Amino acid sequence: MNLETKIIHAIGVDEQTGAISVPIYQTSTFVQELPGVNKGFDYSRSNNPTRQGLEELIAVLENGTRGFAFGSGLAAIDAVIKLLNAGDEVVAVDDIYGGTYRIFTQIYSGFGIKINFVDTTDVTNVVDAITPKTKFVWLETPTNPTLKISDISEIAKIAHANNALLIVDNTFASPALQNPLDLGADIVIHSATKYLSGHSDVIAGLVVVKDEELGEKIKLIQNSSGGILGPFDSWLTIRGIQTLPLRVEKQSESALKIASWLQKRDEVDKIYYPGLSTHHNHLLAKKQQRLFGGVVSFTLKEDTFESATKLVSSTELFKLAESLGGTKSLICHCAQMTHASVPSEKRRASGVQDSLVRLSIGLENSDDLITDLEEAFEKINQQKPALA
Ligand SMILES: *Cc1c(COP(=O)(O)O)cnc(C)c1O
Repeated sequence: MNLETKIIHAIGVDEQTGAISVPIYQTSTFVQELPGVNKGFDYSRSNNPTRQGLEELIAVLENGTRGFAFGSGLAAIDAVIKLLNAGDEVVAVDDIYGGTYRIFTQIYSGFGIKINFVDTTDVTNVVDAITPKTKFVWLETPTNPTLKISDISEIAKIAHANNALLIVDNTFASPALQNPLDLGADIVIHSATKYLSGHSDVIAGLVVVKDEELGEKIKLIQNSSGGILGPFDSWLTIRGIQTLPLRVEKQSESALKIASWLQKRDEVDKIYYPGLSTHHNHLLAKKQQRLFGGVVSFTLKEDTFESATKLVSSTELFKLAESLGGTKSLICHCAQMTHASVPSEKRRASGVQDSLVRLSIGLENSDDLITDLEEAFEKINQQKPALA
């Protein structure tokens, strides 16, 4: 079956009532016939039928065997890190999501876990960084916000040859673009807050594995640490996922159109979009992904906070906000928003220049979005003093 069909039918009709939409089981506990004799559920931290629906759905979407739903993307990340022990090391992509950077360097460093950051677009950097203590290689591809692409299958081979697991945060791609487990990854993580739920109305996280034993370990951590997703948010996420392929297809189409249009603007310097043939790893993206996604980043020739601030505050349809993957298009100035906590030298070294602007393309008509950007550029050009 194709992805769209699998998504629609992965959750069956409710057997008890025939409800075609999965019911929201808003309950903390379940009545037992005799002590320990129940209908498969005893307490909602351990298991809840609505959450289970979502967990089975994401396992199907990512071609895994077990899925797990958490209260946020970071709670999902936290659960995966808890597979490690003091003394273990992680090799990670250098422009990792800021929250993941923070949990490793400010929380788990105190528990004796060490993380080394390398540019994973060059696999030799991964080989060089691995030590006998390395237990995880941690990838995001495409990365945020410069959309760097790393080779999942090559890096999976390197990780496995060194007895390490490959973890892929698949948030930016979503299962509509790529399935890391099929390429050799061991664990897939999602901030379902973004493309999966897709409507900017819920914070949620997911973990998927193929290996049964690894699944049992994550289940133990989920139940023991308790960072679960509630029934209503599970339902919202299921509802969102059903239109994922449709949304991402449209967003990718619009993103390519907008990226190509930006190439013609005098104000724009670099454009980051894996769908452009000028992208550093366009061919790898083409091989590894089904589509190129809905995020486009670019820098301005006038590479300053001021010029970026003017642009991001001059659009009407593009709303100035963090996050991505929703129905409304968003614009963000990374240096002052998503990457504000990264020291400026480190930020610039990872390619996030002072003027870098990130667009999350929504579901509006792409011509309207282009007009909106065009008018914003005109507005800031008019503010410039005329040359003498
Ligand atoms: C947003 C995001 C996260 C964190 O997810 P939350 O749901 O905000 O906790 C992790 N990884 C990536 C790539 C993200 O974009």
